[in-house]
Amino acid sequence: MNSPSLYCSFHLDLDDIANKIKHSRARTIGLQFPEGLKRSAFFIAGELEKRTSVNIIISGNPCYGACDVDMELKRSVDVLFHFGHSELVKGLDNVIYIETPARTNIKNVLAKAVAELGSGTIGLVTTVQHVHRIDDIKAFIRSKGISYVVGTGDSRIKYPGQILGCNFSAADIPCDQYLYIGSGTFHPLGIAIATKRKVLCADPMTTSIEWVDPDKILRTRCGVIAKCHRADTYGILISTKIGQNRAALARRMAMLAEKYEKKYIMISLDNITPDALMQFKMNAFVNTACPRIAIDDAGMFSAPVLTPVEFEIALGHKDWNEYVFDEIRE
Ligand code: SF4
Repeated sequence: MNSPSLYCSFHLDLDDIANKIKHSRARTIGLQFPEGLKRSAFFIAGELEKRTSVNIIISGNPCYGACDVDMELKRSVDVLFHFGHSELVKGLDNVIYIETPARTNIKNVLAKAVAELGSGTIGLVTTVQHVHRIDDIKAFIRSKGISYVVGTGDSRIKYPGQILGCNFSAADIPCDQYLYIGSGTFHPLGIAIATKRKVLCADPMTTSIEWVDPDKILRTRCGVIAKCHRADTYGILISTKIGQNRAALARRMAMLAEKYEKKYIMISLDNITPDALMQFKMNAFVNTACPRIAIDDAGMFSAPVLTPVEFEIALGHKDWNEYVFDEIRE
């Protein structure tokens, strides 16, 4: 039996997952859900238990993305099923990614977007929730006589046209403006700042469209950097999450700190939260983990949290006009 609330919004084939479990001969499996799917954990686990009689352990840790595989749980089960994201960390044995494509009618929002787009070639970008509709999106755009281009991205990107909050490499394409199909403004803001081109956001969930405006976030980040001009002590943050660990970048930041005669400590964490950093009495932090942390949670930390590029600007090592959103590329 399918859960009506779950199946309204996402496509999830429980029979296929059950077959994968049987095929693996696993006796104990782990299930890891992003926050939005945790409410369905009880139902999904029950259905899989009924179909396979397997023992199930559910990860209760926060899960922010495909970068965030629960390695501790992976070690204690035969197979770990990671829901809601496409594969990012390559070569992990006994981890199966279960994508949960959104069930949406994209035609309405595409019709609105097409009426708003200017002339020229459109770069199409979207998130994993909608990337399975990319052929429908292309067909619709083509039917309106609009030329488009879709990028393939680097090795962290599984599907053409797909972008992550930490990777806009599929937007490295020759186009005049972008059409982003998805929710939220973080991804399109990153593209707008990186490419200096206009990005129209079309949200299939709400059917709203809006041109992204990077000015406000750029002013905010400029203010955060300005607060650090006199900072003498820095905490350089390194993530222990398998897909967020950028130890080499952290070391480069440490060398820069030395060059500019700043004191620093390297801090290794799993979840970087305001509480976790509160007791480190540093003037500022440099985040080499998920690039979204410095931006999304700005203002919640006890001291400014800079991205690596922002740190370089604060030190005077780079100029403000070199500002880009931080990305984790291959
Ligand atoms: Fe998402 Fe951040 Fe992980 Fe990238 S690093 S996949 S933006 S959670």
